[in-house]
Amino acid sequence: MNIVQCTFCKKPFHSLGSKICPACLEQIDKDFIKVRDYIYEHKHSNIDKIAEETEVKKAVIIHLLKEGRLIIDSPDGDGLLVCEMCKKPINTGRMCKECMGKVASSMDKNVIANKKPEPKPEEPNIKGSAKIGS
Ligand SMILES: [Zn+2]
Ligand SMILES: [Zn+2]
Repeated sequence: MNIVQCTFCKKPFHSLGSKICPACLEQIDKDFIKVRDYIYEHKHSNIDKIAEETEVKKAVIIHLLKEGRLIIDSPDGDGLLVCEMCKKPINTGRMCKECMGKVASSMDKNVIANKKPEPKPEEPNIKGSAKIGS
């Protein structure tokens, strides 16, 4: 038996891999529909307003944003979510598009690197004592 504490209600429950108890998952699904419909009608809303109007907990909205189930269309994502790589504000998910692309391409490179290690190109030493503009 694997007993974990629910992220939302802090109650221990028998987990099958989830960190959220079945009761909270059910509630989140209901909240998700409320928030999704609200965002659909009010595209340029912010999270405080959404939480107030839908009576959905902010933590739930942030959870849904992180899961990529919701997207808040505000210019800076309200600063609630930041890219895990470059710390840029994002509207949904865990990484910005640029970093997701980088991660995807670095994974490709790793596959190649495992077969054949790339020799590092040596940087030319351009440091000197000469001053520019003197
Ligand atoms: Zn719970
Ligand atoms: Zn990024």
